[in-house]
Formats: sequence, structure tokens, C-alpha cells
Amino acid sequence: MADKITIALKRGASCVGCDIAVVNLSEKLLDLLAIADIVFAPTLIDTKYKDLKAMPDKSITLGIYHGAVRNSENEELAHIIRQKCQIVIAYGACAQFGGIPGLANDTTKENIFRTVYETTHSTDNPQKVYPQEEWSDDNGHKLNLPKFYERVKRLDEVIDVDYYVPACPPTYDMNLQILQMLSDFVAGKSELPPKGTVIASQKIVCDECPREKSEIVSMKDIKYITEIIPDEEKCFLEQGIICIGPATRAGCGAPCMEANMPCRGCMGPTAEMEDQGGAILSAIASIITPELEGLDEDILKLVDKIKDPLGYFYRFTLPTSLLDKTKQEE
Ligand code: SF4
Ligand code: SF4
Ligand code: SF4
Repeated sequence: MADKITIALKRGASCVGCDIAVVNLSEKLLDLLAIADIVFAPTLIDTKYKDLKAMPDKSITLGIYHGAVRNSENEELAHIIRQKCQIVIAYGACAQFGGIPGLANDTTKENIFRTVYETTHSTDNPQKVYPQEEWSDDNGHKLNLPKFYERVKRLDEVIDVDYYVPACPPTYDMNLQILQMLSDFVAGKSELPPKGTVIASQKIVCDECPREKSEIVSMKDIKYITEIIPDEEKCFLEQGIICIGPATRAGCGAPCMEANMPCRGCMGPTAEMEDQGGAILSAIASIITPELEGLDEDILKLVDKIKDPLGYFYRFTLPTSLLDKTKQEE
């Protein structure tokens, strides 16, 4: 192995939180820079797409792509990263599962454009002008915009991916784990894990969570985090607050529990779960026990309290879900 590896950091449809997560390595960034040269990272250093395009194929050791694939520019750059890098990591929930942008798969491109360019209160567009993929001025100068896709895609729908790092964004501890893995690899102490590995735990968040839970967990009511001040020691589900921990892969260190916030599921499902939303729905259905047990209408009233179930149960994984697959097959 060479003394140093090279890294390219590229974003697709991303909030840039994943770039910040890398910077958040703080003083450990120096350890990263001791083993790696960052050769392309437009958010962090002054590098241009033409610089990346000019690099020889497979000349970069590691490509880290974060963000979903929302448009043709995201897809083009994903292909360039694949072409130039020996190893590609889908970094963060958006790249691995479609993430928060993937919730848009519940609607259509047409609806999104109508909302943004017509019906939103702050929109002033009486002529209903929509973005065009190609536009020319009177002198024939052309302007091209990326094609906005009908649905949000995961990175591995458009290119071959070697490793996955979930979470929104990956936590400091997860980044330390990647740093250790790369340092050992550069020092010749160990090989990289098998292709397709999710660099996280095989367990669920409940296994990492320090909160007290009963032998048999039951949920007698459904409440929102804005309605009560939750007990900091007790399992959220037992307090009536939906927590996606039972349907979520561990490895993040359960930082949300420390902030007295329930798990939102950003690590996605474990390898055994086919569908994260389905898994948490089934977990909640098995523990929901209204005070007046056995009355169907009481259970229905409780279930009705779940506002925006799609957003709750598929917040990060809609483009990976059975729901999305079914919609595509229709
Ligand atoms: S995974 Fe989260 S932090 Fe990373 S780009 Fe997506 S929304 Fe932003
Ligand atoms: S459901 Fe949530 S609060 Fe309860 S043990 Fe699991 S992660 Fe912790
Ligand atoms: S506890 Fe849940 S929401 Fe918080 S970082 Fe971990 S997986 Fe994400």
C-alpha cells in the first residue's frame, strides 16, 4: 500500500450536513490528513468539476458520495466518481436510502413543480413559468439545466457501491471507526471489509440504548415530544412517544437518547429487515394496548393520533421501501 491514499468527497442532493460531519472530526482531521490527501471536495476546498474530470480513471483511492440522486447532474457526477475512484462509499442516509429528499417519492414531479412555482404563498409567477431543461436567448446562447427526475434514487440505483455508511449525518464515533479502518489499511495491518459491507453494527438501536425498559413493553397512549417533558431514564415507547429504535440499525451510539429525543431511524434497517417502516409498524402494533383493552375503536383512536405516518416510519428510507417498489411496478 502507498504511504498515503487519496480521497474525493462529492455531494448529490444533499443538505451538506455530511460534509460538515467530516469536518467535525475536529483535531482528528489531522490524523486523516496524515494518511490521506483530499484531492476533490468542492464544499471544503477550491476544486472544480473539470479538475476531477481531468484526473485519470481509478487514480483516486476513495470516493465518498453523500446525498441522494434527484437530477441528471447528481447522476452524472456519481458516474464520474465511480470512474475516477477505486472504492466508492455511499455516505449518509441520503446516499444509502434516499434519505429525507426521498420523501418526495410520495408525490410527483408535476406536483412538486406546481407547489414550488405556482401555489406557494411566496411565489410570484403569474405567467406560470417553469424551469426548462434548455433555454436560448435571442443571440442563440444556450443555457442547460439538469433534468429533474420523477423520483429520488439511492446511489446504488445508478452506480456500483462498495461500502455503505448510514446515518443523518454519520456521527463522530462512526467517522472515527472509518478513520481507524483506513489507517489500518494504509499501515498494512488489515484488509478492507468485504464489498457491500455496511460500516455500522448488526444490532438495533435498542441494544445500545441505556434507557430502562420493562420485560414486556406496552404503549397505552400516543403522545408527541412537544406535549410532554419525557422522563430521561425511561424507554420512549413506554411513555407513548414513537421511537424508531426497534427498527433501526445500531452503530451511531444512540446520541439522540442523551438529548432526550426519540430515535428517528436515520441508521436505516438492519440486514434482516426488508422494510424499516413495516418493521416499526409491526413492532408498534404488537405493543399498543389502550387503557380500555380489547376495544377496536380505542385502538383506532390511538392509531389516528399518529400524524403523518409515512413521514414517521419512512423518514429516511422511502426510496428503499416496499411501498416505493410497488409504486414503480404500477
Ligand atoms: S444524510 Fe442527512 S446530513 Fe447527510 S446529506 Fe442527507 S440530510 Fe444532509
Ligand atoms: S424504543 Fe427507543 S427508548 Fe426504548 S429502548 Fe429502544 S431505542 Fe431506547
Ligand atoms: S439514535 Fe436514531 S436518529 Fe439518533 S443518530 Fe441513532 S439512528 Fe439516528
